[in-house]
Amino acid sequence: MREAAGTRLQAGTHTGMVTDKNRDKKNTADGRLVLAATPIGNTGDASARLTELLRMADIVAAEDTRRLYDLANRLGVRVGGNVVAYHDHNEHLKVDGLLDGVERGAVVLVVSDAGMPTINDPGLAIVRRAIERGLPVTCAPGPSAVLDALALSGLPTDRFCFEGFVPRKQSDRVRRLRSLLTETRTIVFYETPQRIARTMDAFAEVFPPSRPMVLARELTKDYEEVRRSTVAALRQSVIDDPPRGEIVLVLQGASEEELRAAAASGADGGEAFDVDRLAREADDLSRRGGLKPKDAIAATVQAHPYADGSLANRKDVYAAMLRLRQKAVG
Ligand code: SAM
Repeated sequence: MREAAGTRLQAGTHTGMVTDKNRDKKNTADGRLVLAATPIGNTGDASARLTELLRMADIVAAEDTRRLYDLANRLGVRVGGNVVAYHDHNEHLKVDGLLDGVERGAVVLVVSDAGMPTINDPGLAIVRRAIERGLPVTCAPGPSAVLDALALSGLPTDRFCFEGFVPRKQSDRVRRLRSLLTETRTIVFYETPQRIARTMDAFAEVFPPSRPMVLARELTKDYEEVRRSTVAALRQSVIDDPPRGEIVLVLQGASEEELRAAAASGADGGEAFDVDRLAREADDLSRRGGLKPKDAIAATVQAHPYADGSLANRKDVYAAMLRLRQKAVG
C-alpha cells in the first residue's frame, strides 16, 4: 500500500514508464501487483478490499480510465495513485514499466471494465511477466460472470470448463463446438446480443436438441434473467424473444447415453459416409442404443463430417433410413 502522498510513484501516461520521485522512502518489500475484480453490473458487489485498493494503490492500471473514475465516484472513493490506461492494445508495452514500479515498492492495481481481470479481459500479460521477474502477485477476488451464471444455471458445478467467446466465423464456430461434443463437464461460454442468434444456430447444428442449456443475461442488474432450457428450445426462445445485454451460455456436458452413441457411431474422427451408409449406421445405433431415430441420426451425422467440415443433411438421412426400414419389412 502507498505509505504517504510524498512517496507516490508516477507513471508516464504515454511511455508506460514508472518513475519513483522519492524512492528512498519507499519500502521495496511492500511492492506487489494486485488484480482486483470490479462489479459486473451491481455496484453493491464491490468488495471492501477493492475500495481500499482504489484509495491506496500507488498506480492503478485500468482498462478504461473513464469507467474507473465512474466506478470510484459510485463507490465514493478518491483514486489516490496514478492512473494508467492498460488495455488489450497496449498491455505488452506497459507491463515492464508497471512492474519496475512494483520492484521499487509500489502497489500496482490492475482492474478491467467489469469482473475479473484476465478473464476475457486484460491482465494476463502482466501476471506472466511478474511471475517471470519473480515479483509478488496477489488478487482481490470478486464478481465474474462465469461463476455467477454457472451457479444460477442449476447445471452440474462439480466439474466445469470455460470456453470464453466462440469464434466469429460460423464454420470455425461449428468446428469448435464439434470438438466439445463429447465433453462431459458443464461448459460455460460468453456471448453478445449481436451474435447470439447465429451462435444458437451453431449449437443446434452440433448438439442434441434435448441437451440442457441455460442462457443467463444482465447478471446482478435490474433486468437479470435466466432461461433454463434445452438446446432446441433455447434456440427458439432466442428467435422469439431476442435477449439484450450481456450474456452467458451454460451447456450441460455429454450424458452417458450420448457418449455411448458417439462411441457406437465412431465419433471423434470417424470417416465421412454417404447418406445410405449414414442411414444404416443411425438405424443400427437407434436399435442397439435405444435412441429415438432423430437423435441417432444427429449423433451419426455429427460423427462423420465431410472433408470440408460440413455435415450430411439429416432429412436425407432420415429418408434413407425410412427406405431401409421399409425394405426390411417388405
Ligand atoms: N472479466 C469479465 C468477467 O470476469 O466476467 C468478463 C469480460 S468479457 C469482455 C465480457 C463478457 O462477459 C460479456 O460479453 C458477457 O458474456 C460476460 N458478462 C459480463 N458481465 C455480465 C453480466 N452482468 N451478465 C451476463 N454476462 C456478463
